[in-house]
Amino acid sequence: MDLSQLTVKEASEKLAQREISAVDLAKACLARIAALNGGLNAYLTVAKEEALAEARAADQRRQAGEAGPLLGIPYAAKDNILTKGVRTTAASKMLENYIAPYDATIIKKLRQAGAVLLGKTNLDEFAHGASTENSAFGPTKNPWDAQRVPGGSSGGSAAAVAADMCLFALGTDTGGSIRHPAAYCGVVGLKPTYGRASRFGLIAMTSSTDVPGPIAKTAADAEAIMRVLSGVDKQDATTYDFGIETDSARQDFQNVKIGLTPEFFTDGIQPAVKEAVLAVLNLMKEQGAQEQAVSLPHTKYAIAAYYLITPSEISSNLSRFDGIKYGRAESGGENLFDLYAASRGAGFGPEVKRRIMLGTFALSAGYYDAYYLKAQKARTVIARELNEALAKADFILTPATPHPAFRIGEKTDPVSMYLEDVFMSSASLAGLPALVLPAGFVDGLPVACQLIGRRGADYDLLRFGEIYGNLTNWRQTRPKL
Ligand code: GLN
Repeated sequence: MDLSQLTVKEASEKLAQREISAVDLAKACLARIAALNGGLNAYLTVAKEEALAEARAADQRRQAGEAGPLLGIPYAAKDNILTKGVRTTAASKMLENYIAPYDATIIKKLRQAGAVLLGKTNLDEFAHGASTENSAFGPTKNPWDAQRVPGGSSGGSAAAVAADMCLFALGTDTGGSIRHPAAYCGVVGLKPTYGRASRFGLIAMTSSTDVPGPIAKTAADAEAIMRVLSGVDKQDATTYDFGIETDSARQDFQNVKIGLTPEFFTDGIQPAVKEAVLAVLNLMKEQGAQEQAVSLPHTKYAIAAYYLITPSEISSNLSRFDGIKYGRAESGGENLFDLYAASRGAGFGPEVKRRIMLGTFALSAGYYDAYYLKAQKARTVIARELNEALAKADFILTPATPHPAFRIGEKTDPVSMYLEDVFMSSASLAGLPALVLPAGFVDGLPVACQLIGRRGADYDLLRFGEIYGNLTNWRQTRPKL
């Protein structure tokens, strides 16, 4: 067996038994990257020498008596997460040559745990998008069908996991960017509770919803990774200690209440996708779960609210990239304004510019109340309804996307791309954990369901995900590469 196909759990056991070394694992993934990345464009930067050195160091730490679930495990990080010494581009011309002087907190934690960074993965520029087509460095291809998108914005990370070009990957999720590509690539993606993992060292998009998290082959792997990423960070005042307990003795869905609501099974959803999600429900019911009707009437405003709040925060967060404080600087021009305008004009792609303009407009004195404030009020109602529903149900089951992966170039107008987030935005606006799990295949392409959980209940969701995963065999079907 090719070692790159192992899960984190399997590899970790083999490492502990001294059956394999961290160097073997890193080499297997690097060989896979060398063979496939030319076609898939999942990685923007491969840190081959650094990875091999880190793998040797991990093997030495193990020799010296250290152990741990991620010691020697090779992974990829989305390229909007700062890595000391390894280029971080946010898939933008603005940061094409940027090398961060420090690690993001989550990267630091993974280093301490002995995980091995293989490289940095492609994304929609500054994480704005749902297909990875907005990257300044070309789209990532879906491993299941190279004519199709991998989803986004963490498309490179999801494709890398699905194609065994790493054992797990980090993504960031602002409005679906971990969950959406996980769904399109047939892997597991967790958007943790807002504040569970530090945002320090993430290139900010929407500070009030951004959260980093794992994209993995199984829910059990995602749990092991989350245990390392979680925790309060002095550098991020929004982090909170939610604890990491869960009922690990639970082996079925006995007495579990699954929240269902018509708002998440809208007309636009492809019938075969709906069937796949209802099959998940039935499987859970066979294991003792009960259906619990819940009502989320304001769900239909989630996308509209998200696409006002997100550009508003983007317009503020991206103002630092002006060619002076940060990023690409264009010379020429008469004065400082010319330099800013030329640098931002050349550095940012069209979607980033669109969002900056939209956000600046929504926050402007004359329109603030009509747009930004209204969106925040809608957000409050959406969050309240979700929390009320989750007082009755243990989690809410929804489809992850209305259809399987679409073709590269198919969605040309921005609004149709925004609508990709139709099942994603609510949990982001409410700061709740949400887990995407494979739910089978439609026309040979992966489809997925989503479990939205109570605030802080990330590990319960992962436990449910693991029990569900053990009942299915979707993982045995692999992309033909
Ligand atoms: N599709 C969403 C957007 O474009 C997701 C972004 C994200 O989660 N980073 O805003």
